[in-house]
Amino acid sequence: MPLTIGVPKETQDGETRVALIPSVAERLHTTLGDVEIRVERGAGRSAFHNDDAYEDAGCAVTSRAEVFAADVVAKVAAPSSDEVERLSEGQVLVGFLNPLDDPQTSRRLADAGVTALAMELVPRISRAQKMDALSAMSSLGGYRATIEAAERLPKFFPLLTTAAGTIRPAQVLVLGAGVAGLQAIATAKRLGAKVFGYDIRDATREEIESLGAKFVELELEMGDQEDESGYAKELQKEKQERQPELLQPHIAESDVVISTALIPGRPAPLLIREEAVEAMTPGSVIVDLAAPNGGNCAVTETGETVHAHDVTVMGPTNLPAKMAVHASQLYAKTVSVLIEEFVADGQFTPDFDDDIFDGTCLTHGGAVHNERVRDLLAEEA
Ligand code: NAD
Repeated sequence: MPLTIGVPKETQDGETRVALIPSVAERLHTTLGDVEIRVERGAGRSAFHNDDAYEDAGCAVTSRAEVFAADVVAKVAAPSSDEVERLSEGQVLVGFLNPLDDPQTSRRLADAGVTALAMELVPRISRAQKMDALSAMSSLGGYRATIEAAERLPKFFPLLTTAAGTIRPAQVLVLGAGVAGLQAIATAKRLGAKVFGYDIRDATREEIESLGAKFVELELEMGDQEDESGYAKELQKEKQERQPELLQPHIAESDVVISTALIPGRPAPLLIREEAVEAMTPGSVIVDLAAPNGGNCAVTETGETVHAHDVTVMGPTNLPAKMAVHASQLYAKTVSVLIEEFVADGQFTPDFDDDIFDGTCLTHGGAVHNERVRDLLAEEA
């Protein structure tokens, strides 16, 4: 019996991505050999891959039921309750499973006996770089955040000298210079803006400056704010309170603020108070990429664009979905490499001695494997 891989049509509101695209499916046929890839009718439509293209790539275009009966189900967004109910013991689910924000879905997947691999949990080690879906999507999000800001800003981004006068370049401040923030900085620079970047991790100064942006220095004694995985550690309480106060003058001077600051598993830090929004020039724009985690800005409404004190404040939750072609292409690559890594002799083979499998595995054998998610579930109980 060949290994079967199922690719459902995503059902979450606004989700346009698909977990495997035809060219990546074609490659999987070559690398895995005896494999049957089942694609739900219309699954690639919103990413501009029609059913014929999947058939040409050797996939079976079929029903939702057939797709959810596959050995490995590859998804983008976390499964809905209906999707969890379709899965049963021994099946493998791969996707963004949102484990730290929604541990109950992990509990249900474990109860169903599903081996769930969460793309958010892929460890950030060099061997796993090709599977790092989070970075791939953050990069798209950072780029798109700048484009969205430029679209809404009632001003030019670049310096412009015209017969009617000189236009000063827009001033862009990016808060949080991880993968998304650095891409936002690079995009704003390419559009000709005057760009500033800020982060609490020491290592970011050089990265911000290497993109031609200026590093914002706050009078806040930091110490080493980076943990062993390269993520930021949460600031002590009094520094958390001082930070938005010290940032306020920098925010007030900016035409655009793109905020991306996150601490894994914690609510997003508050960096932009309502007073700071009020202090901005009318027409300014804030794009709060931390919106799904509560937002870095006090007036952000998750999933909405609001106007406060003549400032446009966007709280997008899924900017990669606005770039369905490249988002699906990059995501499909990361998922396919992860699947390939753990297929041996035509079967999906869990390997808990492997750091990547151990780190990515959310549920297996009826239990929640990830310790942080187990702790969260215990706290909720
Ligand atoms: P993230 O999305 O968790 O956070 C975004 C940024 O917010 C981070 O740079 C963080 O330092 C910053 N931040 C947190 N609290 C803040 C605060 N109060 N004020 C200002 N900024 C704050 O992070 P990420 O983009 O996923 O990546 C974080 C790190 O991991 C980066 O160093 C990145 O280069 C590294 N990384 C490594 C690999 C790898 O080794 N394979 C892959 C991807 C990312």
